[in-house]
Amino acid sequence: MPLRMIRFTICVLVALAAWAAVGQSPQPPAHHWAIVVHGGAGVIERSSMKPEAEAAYRSSITQATEAGAKVLAQGGTSVDAVEAVIQILEDDPLFNAGRGAVFTADGKIELDAAIMDGSNLKAGAVAGVTRTRHPISLARAVMEKSPHVMLIGAGADAFGAQSGLEQVDPSFFFTERRWQSLVRQLQKEGRPIPARPAGAPPPPPVPVAEIDAPSAHKYGTVGVVALDRAGNIAAGTSTGGTQAKQWGRVGDSPIIGAGTYASNQSCAVSATGTGEYFIRLGVAREICNLVYFKGMPLQQAADQVIHKELEALHGDGGVIAITPDGQLAWSFNTAGMFRAKLAEGGKLQIGVYNDEP
Ligand code: ASP
Repeated sequence: MPLRMIRFTICVLVALAAWAAVGQSPQPPAHHWAIVVHGGAGVIERSSMKPEAEAAYRSSITQATEAGAKVLAQGGTSVDAVEAVIQILEDDPLFNAGRGAVFTADGKIELDAAIMDGSNLKAGAVAGVTRTRHPISLARAVMEKSPHVMLIGAGADAFGAQSGLEQVDPSFFFTERRWQSLVRQLQKEGRPIPARPAGAPPPPPVPVAEIDAPSAHKYGTVGVVALDRAGNIAAGTSTGGTQAKQWGRVGDSPIIGAGTYASNQSCAVSATGTGEYFIRLGVAREICNLVYFKGMPLQQAADQVIHKELEALHGDGGVIAITPDGQLAWSFNTAGMFRAKLAEGGKLQIGVYNDEP
């Protein structure tokens, strides 16, 4: 072979090898996934919490968080993880969301939920729904399948049915514990007691025992924030609102910017507490604004809004939050908040009372 030909062949081989090497060069590392979950904040005190109840809450939160972690570990989106975890908690009668939600003053269950995708600022929310089994999935359908952000009441349920989401009789959400809690509150306040809801099982011969602090019954909202391997964050919240609410009252959970917010530019937040204060302060967006405009570390931003701004209004509650760079935070000014966090390669951290890290 002439020398020129050999040189040419070598050049081609070198070029091919270089091209192959570039093709195999390591991709930029995928983001580490992470998830934070809450199951409501309130007067959750050791002295009034039965050990079995505490163990049940801890185990439910652990299982739900691990289910979300699995979605993220397998490359699922943050929106998928948020929906999956909240669906589990909506089906769990321990929490004030879906089955196990608190009753309104007239003996109904009216559910609120919201979800937000930080990668594109799309959001969906529903309020006062009574028939859709998973309000969080209905919020997601509003986000993905409608041109709107928020739907309410019967119209929202009708959209759920039209979108193929499971519809249930309102008695599906009934739990004896929440019913008796409503009756006790109304009796104490001297307000009329509504008729036992249609479709509820017959009352038990002896009242069911309180399993936790009476005022914890007002709470139990659930929320999730997550970061996926693609570096996108999302937030979701689902609740029955406050016990004995009336006149179509809606809290902060489904209000984008108040109880739920997510933007890849700053952070994702889900809140719990007396919603009126969270709406007035726009708590979730306020925290993200401190991160975005002031460059504050996430924990500091959450603490500033909860311990300074919320407390200045005598508001009560807490938040969980996450940033695209993997900062995780929770902050609350109540005696307790059911909460857990887990990041790729780390250990699950779970807490109930305010003296736990
Ligand atoms: N924030 C909810 C609401 O006001 C209730 C809660 O989180 O406990 O509807």
